[in-house]
Amino acid sequence: MFETQISQYITGDKMIIVPLGVASATPTATRHLPSLAVWREGDIHLFDCGENTQMRMLQAGLKRSKIENIFISHFDVDHFAGMFGLLSTLQLQRREKDLNIIGPKGIKKFVEWNFKFAEIDLNYKINYVEVKEDIESERVIDAEEYYVEARPLNHTKFCLGYRFQEKDKPGKVDADKAQKMGITKDEEFKALKAGEDITLEDGSVIKSYDIVGHPRPGDSFAYITDTKYCPNSVKLAMNTNILYHEATFSESLADKAAETGHSTSIDAARVANESQTKLLVITHFSARYTNPFILLREAREKFFPAWLATELRPIYTDPAQEKGIVQQKVYLKEIDDSSGSDGSDRKSSDDSKKKFRKRKKVDKKRSSGKTRSRRTDKPSSSSDRKPSKRSSRSDSSRGRDSSNRSEERTERKPKPITPRTPFDDFDRF
Ligand SMILES: [Zn+2]
Repeated sequence: MFETQISQYITGDKMIIVPLGVASATPTATRHLPSLAVWREGDIHLFDCGENTQMRMLQAGLKRSKIENIFISHFDVDHFAGMFGLLSTLQLQRREKDLNIIGPKGIKKFVEWNFKFAEIDLNYKINYVEVKEDIESERVIDAEEYYVEARPLNHTKFCLGYRFQEKDKPGKVDADKAQKMGITKDEEFKALKAGEDITLEDGSVIKSYDIVGHPRPGDSFAYITDTKYCPNSVKLAMNTNILYHEATFSESLADKAAETGHSTSIDAARVANESQTKLLVITHFSARYTNPFILLREAREKFFPAWLATELRPIYTDPAQEKGIVQQKVYLKEIDDSSGSDGSDRKSSDDSKKKFRKRKKVDKKRSSGKTRSRRTDKPSSSSDRKPSKRSSRSDSSRGRDSSNRSEERTERKPKPITPRTPFDDFDRF
C-alpha cells in the first residue's frame, strides 16, 4: 500500500515519437503523406495530418480517442488533408473531450466550413490556436507538464515549426531513505516532492533535498518540416532529445531544394549540428528516392547519430526506457532485410530485375528454384505444394508448354507490392 503511494511520485520518462507518414507532396506505394504522433503518458499529440493518418494510427497501435492536440505546420494539402476525416471519426466515436487544433491563421475557418458543409453538429469542443504570420515565436500550448512553442520557418508559404518541451520533472524520491526517516503519509511526500521541508510529530525536521534528488530536465522534440535552412529551426531544435527534420532532397539537388523551399540532407545535418540535438531523424523524402539511405548517408557524414524516419517504427526520447508501450499492428520490414519488397534496398531491386530476366529467358533455372527469393513466407510455401486454380486455368488456355509452365508457376511466390519507379510522378518534388 505504502509502495503504491510512492510509485505515483516516481514517474517514468515516457515520450515516444511514431512517424506515420514520411513521404513528401505525393504518396508512394510504400510511403504515406506527412504525419507524426507523439505519445506521452498516454496522450497523443499529432504533428501534421496527411491523408491516411487515421489508418496509420490504427496500424501503429495508437488510439485516435487519445489525441489531445493536432499541430498543423502549413496549408500544403499533403500536410492537412487527413484532418477532416479524422475529426469526423472522433465525432462518430462520440468524443466528448475537448480537442486543440493549432496551426496558421485560417485553420478555424477551414474546419468549421467543412463541418458546416457536411451538416455535422459536433459533439465535442475544438479549441483553436491560430498563429499569425508576424510572430517571432509563440507558446501555443502551455499544459501542466509540457509546453509547445511555434516559430515561423522559411518555406514558399507561411509554415510553422514546433518544439514540444516537457517541463522539468521533480527529482526522484529515495523511498527507502524516506521510510527509514519515518515518513509515512501521502501529504508528507507531496510536500517534500514540492521542495518543502517538513516537521515530523517527534519534532525532527526532514529537509526536502535529503530525500528528493535534483530536478530532471524534461524531454524535448522538434518538428521541422517544409523549410529551407533557417535560424528559427536551430532555435526550435536547441538541445532537443530528438530533431525530426525534413530532408526532401540530396545535396546534388540543392538548387531544387532552394527553389521549392525545402531542405537537403546536409541542411538537416547543419541544423542538428548548430542546435546540438541528441538525435537527428530525417523525413519527408522526395518520391524520387526509392532508396532514402542515400539521404541518410549524406546526413551522417555531417552529423551523428542520424536516423531515417521509418513509418510506424517508434523512437524513444530515452532509449533505455521500457519498450512495447506502443506496439504496431502490422508487419514492419527490418532495415537490414535486403529481401524486402519496398525497393528501398538497391541491391535487392537489382537482384529482382536479374531474376525477372532469367525467368523470361532460361526455363531450366526457373524451375530449379534458384530464382526464388530468399524470403520464404507462408503463402509461397503453400503454393509450392498445390498448384493454384489460377495457374492451371491459364496454362490450359494457352496450351503451349503447359506441363513445364505449370511447374514453374507453382514455384512462383505471390507477387509483392511493387513500389512505383523512381521516375514516376516527381514533377513537383
Ligand atoms: Zn511537405
